[in-house]
Amino acid sequence: MDSVIFVQAIRTTVIPSSAVCKSRKEALYGWGMYNFCVAEVYRPDTVEQLCGAIDECKRRGLSVWFRGSGCSYGDVALNQGGAVIDVSQFNKIISVDKVGGVAHVECGVTIEQLWKMVVPLGYWLPVVPGTMYPTLGGCVAMNIHGKNNWRVGPIGEHIEELRLLTPSGEFVTCSRSANTDLFLKTVGGAGLLGCIVDLKMRLKKIHSGFLEMRSLSCGNLKECLETIDSLKESHHYVVGWLDCYARGDRLGRGIVHTANYLEEGHPLAGRGLRIEDQELPRWIFGIVPRKLIPKLVRPFASNLGMCLINRAKFFIDSYVVGKSYYQSHTGFNFLLDSVPNWKTVFLPGGLLQYQLFIPKKHAEEAFTRAIELQRELEVFSYLGVLKRHREDGFARSYSLNGFSLALDFAVNKRTATRLGTLCRRFDELIESYKGKVYLAKDSFGRIQVLRARLAQAATPAKT
Ligand SMILES: Cc1cc2nc3c(=O)[nH]c(=O)nc-3n(C[C@H](O)[C@H](O)[C@H](O)COP(=O)(O)OP(=O)(O)OC[C@H]3O[C@@H](n4cnc5c(N)ncnc54)[C@H](O)[C@@H]3O)c2cc1C
Repeated sequence: MDSVIFVQAIRTTVIPSSAVCKSRKEALYGWGMYNFCVAEVYRPDTVEQLCGAIDECKRRGLSVWFRGSGCSYGDVALNQGGAVIDVSQFNKIISVDKVGGVAHVECGVTIEQLWKMVVPLGYWLPVVPGTMYPTLGGCVAMNIHGKNNWRVGPIGEHIEELRLLTPSGEFVTCSRSANTDLFLKTVGGAGLLGCIVDLKMRLKKIHSGFLEMRSLSCGNLKECLETIDSLKESHHYVVGWLDCYARGDRLGRGIVHTANYLEEGHPLAGRGLRIEDQELPRWIFGIVPRKLIPKLVRPFASNLGMCLINRAKFFIDSYVVGKSYYQSHTGFNFLLDSVPNWKTVFLPGGLLQYQLFIPKKHAEEAFTRAIELQRELEVFSYLGVLKRHREDGFARSYSLNGFSLALDFAVNKRTATRLGTLCRRFDELIESYKGKVYLAKDSFGRIQVLRARLAQAATPAKT
């Protein structure tokens, strides 16, 4: 149900003054800093304040939208001209069942908070995105996937139950066995059905704080796709990095990285489970602080510069292929977080990401075309990431039996218009190959279209 309807249907009880939280008009940005909105922002601390904020929005005739950490690249957590209720203050880890391996958390608890709590207990989160800063509520609302999507599915498959504040102001607990339909629509429902207040998630038992890593060099896109496909059953994580500047026979060349959990009897079992073992490195070679990287890289934030960086990465990574090595869970999963504020390299225009989900049999053709289109329009992705996916049973699923290619682009005066054209061409590719779009990465208003469509469907037809 649309947030407008959510506002209209919410109960109208008299809220005590302690339950009213102040709002103010603020400019909010998508994570990529390309999309922004001006909205009335509420930051409730308590559930009463959350209900109070929703009631006040109703009185003021404002549509309501929820926001976690605002780590979605584009516009999915923005609500131009309406209200945004930031639920990141709901950040208590309610309990962790050390024996059963289940964490019960409020929606604003971040991935970072939770791994810091559970790694010393011998657990990891079953599914994480490429950054540790999103909230669990936001991750479930978008049903995020990790580099292990083929093996374990999206995060929703690990949620035991969640509590939803519904449009009628009720708190409904739903799971695979209770209120199943609501559960399957809420997970991945982008907050359209209400606010996920808290949730219980099954954790992954780990015996070590390290993963066994291996990389393979692939000369072109076909090889990358075949390699990922051939490793998907035997490895817990498989992900490919593509050099989107390579062309001709080398188009789509890249490095495929695999990672496996360590078994109980492994020599590194029991090690790496302290928080400090998982802290991301702050220095490169012990000399250069990583926080300086954005400044050092800024002069390379051009087509030529990024082409050189991609080429250098391919050759450096190719040098270590085949050798196995060990990396912390955080080091592997949250590589980009180890460079604080790396996205500022792309200011003032920001960046956007487009992730194409394409069925397996068309992936090579579609991704070849996606890379060729970049050359035709002279806008290149400085980072291309390839993953293997499978279907899941959620109502608003973006996944399929196939691959996704996530492409990051810098937005600036030269690229802005061309990027609009390029993304429209990507839309056409998705349509013609029966692919799917992932709203968490969208920057072009799909969420607003969806909300409007749902509102229309819920409005009784006039006779
Ligand atoms: C560097 C980087 C890497 C990433 N890698 C991946 C990846 O590998 N895989 C992947 O799937 N995603 C990835 N993402 C995307 C990110 O994980 C998702 O967009 C995630 O949803 C962000 O969570 P958030 O708390 O910031 O939510 P927000 O961005 O604030 O909100 C996202 C959506 O959830 C809704 N929402 C938030 N909280 C609630 C709530 N409590 N109840 C109901 N609705 C709510 C909002 O209304 C909005 O529609 C990445 C993002 C970044 C920046």
